[in-house]
Amino acid sequence: MSEQSCPHIEAITSIKRPKRQECEECVKIGAAWVHPRTCQECGVTLCCDSSPYQHASKHARSVGHPVIASAQPGERWLYCYADEGFAEY
Ligand SMILES: [Zn+2]
Ligand SMILES: [Zn+2]
Ligand SMILES: [Zn+2]
Repeated sequence: MSEQSCPHIEAITSIKRPKRQECEECVKIGAAWVHPRTCQECGVTLCCDSSPYQHASKHARSVGHPVIASAQPGERWLYCYADEGFAEY
């Protein structure tokens, strides 16, 4: 992955960490997910694009919160859906 930040990522001063390492929407409907991601605008944790429902990217598009952080233990990076921006922290 290339290190290509964007204004949304640069505006972030503190990283929101997940409350739980699970997709809140998949838990409600009993679906399986692959990787959890945490929205850096509202703090909701949702599933990645490798998951069947892709809740994190749907959330980014529908409410306009483009930046997520990986909620995987040991992973420390941010991603912006709008710009495909990426940064490690
Ligand atoms: Zn961005
Ligand atoms: Zn999900
Ligand atoms: Zn959000």
